[in-house]
Amino acid sequence: MGFIVFGELQAQVGLAEFFVRCPACESHQPADAMVVSHYYHFYFIPVFPVGKHVDLVCQHCGLKRYGTSFDSTIISNYDEVKTKYRHPWYTYTGTALLLMPIVVAILVSI
Ligand SMILES: [Zn+2]
Repeated sequence: MGFIVFGELQAQVGLAEFFVRCPACESHQPADAMVVSHYYHFYFIPVFPVGKHVDLVCQHCGLKRYGTSFDSTIISNYDEVKTKYRHPWYTYTGTALLLMPIVVAILVSI
């Protein structure tokens, strides 16, 4: 009898300040933000990333919003900031380990 350990984990990508529309203030306000990456793991070895979310705290009224989607519907300058907050390199470890035998086989056959 064995246990198969797998699931989804999170990793902090970065802290930032975004200009977002606050539903409590009903206006655009600067907000403290923490971008978080989600990834699947198998026995706690990261396999591949599956998404991101952002936790926001409005600097004007203090409204906290957790688990907000990290996309252009929330963040006004999303196109500028999306490349700054990439998934951490180690979230691709499992994919690299799975592809390594294939790459080695190709290199050996050449
Ligand atoms: Zn606010």
